[in-house]
Amino acid sequence: MNQTRLDVQAQGPSVLLIDDDAMIRTLVSRGLGRGGVRVTETSGGAEALALMDQSSFDLVLLDVHMPDMDGFETLEAIRSKARRGEIPVIMLTADDEPSAIEKAFERGATDFITKPINLRLLEQRIRYAMAGHARENRLRELQAERASACQIARLGFWRLTESDNFLEWSEGASTLLGRPTVMPGSLAEFLSEIHPDDRLRLDVAFNSALSSGQPFDLESRLRYADEERLVRFSSPGHSDNDALVGSFQDVTSLRKLEAQVLYLSEHDELTGLPRQRLFSKSAEERLASRTGQGMLLVVISIHHVLKFTEYLGSRITQEATLKIAQRLRSFSPDAAIIGRLEENLFALALNTHDQQPEALAQSLHDNLALPLEIGTREIPVRVVMGVAHSLDHGTEVSELIRSARLACRLALEQRLDGVHLYTSDSGQDYGTRLTLEADLRIACAQEQFFLVFQPQVDIHSGQVIGAEALLRWRHPERGVVSPGEFIPVLEETGLIEQAGAWVLAQGIADAARLRKEGFDLRMGINLSAVQLRLENLPETLTELCKEHELPHRRLELEITEGMAMHDPIETRVLLEKLKSRDFSLSIDDFGTGHSALSYITDFPVDTIKIDRSFVINITEGRKQRAIVTAISALSAQLGLTTIAEGIENERQRDYVDALGVHEIQGFLISRPLPFDEFRLFLSTHGKYRRIQEST
Ligand code: C2E
Ligand code: CA
Ligand code: CA
Repeated sequence: MNQTRLDVQAQGPSVLLIDDDAMIRTLVSRGLGRGGVRVTETSGGAEALALMDQSSFDLVLLDVHMPDMDGFETLEAIRSKARRGEIPVIMLTADDEPSAIEKAFERGATDFITKPINLRLLEQRIRYAMAGHARENRLRELQAERASACQIARLGFWRLTESDNFLEWSEGASTLLGRPTVMPGSLAEFLSEIHPDDRLRLDVAFNSALSSGQPFDLESRLRYADEERLVRFSSPGHSDNDALVGSFQDVTSLRKLEAQVLYLSEHDELTGLPRQRLFSKSAEERLASRTGQGMLLVVISIHHVLKFTEYLGSRITQEATLKIAQRLRSFSPDAAIIGRLEENLFALALNTHDQQPEALAQSLHDNLALPLEIGTREIPVRVVMGVAHSLDHGTEVSELIRSARLACRLALEQRLDGVHLYTSDSGQDYGTRLTLEADLRIACAQEQFFLVFQPQVDIHSGQVIGAEALLRWRHPERGVVSPGEFIPVLEETGLIEQAGAWVLAQGIADAARLRKEGFDLRMGINLSAVQLRLENLPETLTELCKEHELPHRRLELEITEGMAMHDPIETRVLLEKLKSRDFSLSIDDFGTGHSALSYITDFPVDTIKIDRSFVINITEGRKQRAIVTAISALSAQLGLTTIAEGIENERQRDYVDALGVHEIQGFLISRPLPFDEFRLFLSTHGKYRRIQEST
């Protein structure tokens, strides 16, 4: 009768002891039990196997000589099942005859010990067997991890034996490469599957690796059946004992993805047209390939004139842009390269001898300028084109684009529609512009900028509530230059990022300094469109305010209505981010962007600054007065502050006062002043200056 006794002790390894001799079982399990080992006893192989299926053990002690099923049979049965097959098994033999020991190892025994059993020795062997087993397990895990990492990376290995030209592949290589058949077994067979154009290169690489240990790393097209895969083969070069080893990686989908990313980065997402970089590259190639023919370059600025309510959906704007791109495609000559340089700026390049290309440009213009039909709406379109030709205006595409853009911009500035050929006059402006650009780069590097401050006062009490920081440039030859002249250039050249960062840092530092001196003002700082879109703007501002100990709400960021309405949905998201950090926000130059009042007030802003153009004529124009009244009334309802800008005289102030404006800013109070003068201004009329009294 088989006997089973469970001797369970916490922790310790759990050992299954299989022996028909009850004396030995008792001896061993008592002895091991003292050392903290949990021993499960059983007297025969069949029962042992059943037990092993029920619970798991860390090690088996197995007697060789047993009546029904001897130790060798039991061992074979244990090793035959995967789940229990790896468990360490120590054989107990009555004699140390070599044949029994050998037989045991052949069948997969881990170790053996002879009877009579020396308990100390047995304990040692158990510990040793278990440590070895743990090491093996870890190795197996590592191998499995490596295999799955290789699977994910679509990576495998190969080994080429030089003497017999035998090519071996890591397990699963053919599955990895999606092959229905086995991998090629020789270099020649393998090379025959490589795309003919890639074959020689790979052949040479393998041979120089074999002959002189040259490493290689090549991507080649592997072809079989109807499949073609892009596979990267590499080898460190040096061969070890007659064999060259290396890896392969299926990069087909990786390269496809990269190509897609490149395509996306070079093409405009909405219209699918090439962006500036690709457009220039294609045009350059075309220009170089048709030397002597010359190239016409047209830059096309397009504005669909949406009424303010239509800004509500940026879908309409997108649809309009799409339609314009379609028109551009269908009305351009077939050989033309077209692209979208910026939001509202398209371009066309065409090889032609024709140096009077106005006719072509004019007909394109007329087709593009037809009103757009979107839904039931008809939306007017304004088209301005700048034209340059390589035979007159420069031999490089970048020059042509610059010239055409300049012609276009000058026309836009003068509010001219139609087609404008680049002329030497534009060139002169262009020269000035280049000097300006160069000077501005120096200005940024040498800190030729400074800030001036203009007070904003409460219209009733005359108390200075806030100030606006305005940028100035001290040009070494020209003296102080106004921002109206250089800010657009900073924006176009990207220098605004640097200059804008300087303004923020300086403005915040100055506001904090004034605050420490007792002038706790709200400091308005102008943001450019580029700055607003800088991803880390909120963090930068937070850091600056922290550094200078300025409460966030004392900083008021001004963005113009035009900026806000350019992409109202995006702007709103950006403003929400700033608002969530408690920065104050204002809409500048309000009234010039023709936006719907209710729409703009839906932005998370605190202040609305009514543009100077309304103030100038307020004493004469009824319309202006009506607008100012409407703005102030709505703002008051929403709890927003209104500031009227550009108040130069008493009459203007009285008018805006009557219309309900809260604060005023303008030459009547003060011109923008450098820091020290501004501080003096604050200390003389800073705190309670009544406007009436001072005049
Ligand atoms: P803005 O933000 O509308 O600034 C008000 C402009 O009106 C200032 O011109 C100011 O000097 C001027 N001004 C103030 N009161 C009166 C007045 O009573 N009468 C008249 N005729 N003008 C008055 P400024 O300083 O030349 O700035 C022009 C524009 O340049 C600013 O218009 C603003 O859009 C931009 N700007 C100035 N500083 C910065 C800056 O640091 N960053 C950015 N991005 N833009 C700035
Ligand atoms: Ca401003
Ligand atoms: Ca303004």
